[in-house]
Amino acid sequence: MTSITPDPAGPRASTTRPLVQLSGVQKHFGDLHVLKDIDLEVAPGEVVVVLGPSGSGKSTLCRTINRLETIDEGEIRIDGTVLPTSGKGLAKLRSEVGMVFQSFNLFAHKTVLQNVTVAPIKVKGVPRKQAEAEGMELLERVGVADQADKLPAQLSGGQQQRVAIARSLAMKPKVMLFDEPTSALDPEMISEVIEVMTGLAKSGMTMIVVTHEMGFARRTADRVVFMDSGRIVEVRPPEEFFSSPESDRAKDFLGKIL
Ligand code: ADP
Ligand code: MG
Repeated sequence: MTSITPDPAGPRASTTRPLVQLSGVQKHFGDLHVLKDIDLEVAPGEVVVVLGPSGSGKSTLCRTINRLETIDEGEIRIDGTVLPTSGKGLAKLRSEVGMVFQSFNLFAHKTVLQNVTVAPIKVKGVPRKQAEAEGMELLERVGVADQADKLPAQLSGGQQQRVAIARSLAMKPKVMLFDEPTSALDPEMISEVIEVMTGLAKSGMTMIVVTHEMGFARRTADRVVFMDSGRIVEVRPPEEFFSSPESDRAKDFLGKIL
């Protein structure tokens, strides 16, 4: 069928194949059971915000999804494909799953534009001219095109994090993971990064976001995933989660942060 009529149930209709699918995922660090029987499906275009106390497993969850960590049991699928454990498949997967961390990890001795073009050129074999043209578009999109020839250290933290987002996007990922992307930033720089993330969400990017920015969670998340001690305790739309959390753990968590 080549019909272009939109699905009346919308892009997030339940018939759509999940873009990210975790089933029965278990992860241990030695004796520590860090992810306990995690089931989670993220639809194409969906924005999921992951909340939970420190040590509840949020970062580990993100790191298993792009295979920075292996899992002990269960299965993770990206766009229907089971996560590979090694080799070529892993490189391909890494380009499909973008990740932005609290620390920006830009290449210190490369310019801003080179930071954005190096992976497309080296990993995907994109011709330099094309990579640079696309890189400039991305820098434009995150509002730092005028900094293209500078070194990361010459930029503010907020600008560096926006470059890190552009660098991830340059690989044309299917899903973007954000692990506390604004936690290392001075307060006045948080909003410029949140704005870029909000724009990305509006553009239809599938996103899994660990953040303490409750405004972003309320406004932009389709669902909130609340974790505690390695378990997913609640999965709800933000308006429900924030107004009437069900579990005592979520009530306790919200009581501390709101
Ligand atoms: P969160 O991001 O929610 O703060 P993490 O996923 O970082 O939680 O950590 C979950 C638990 O796993 C914590 O108890 C943490 O100390 C532990 N942990 C995380 N990474 C490692 C590791 N590489 N080795 C051992 N323990 C780890
Ligand atoms: Mg963490």
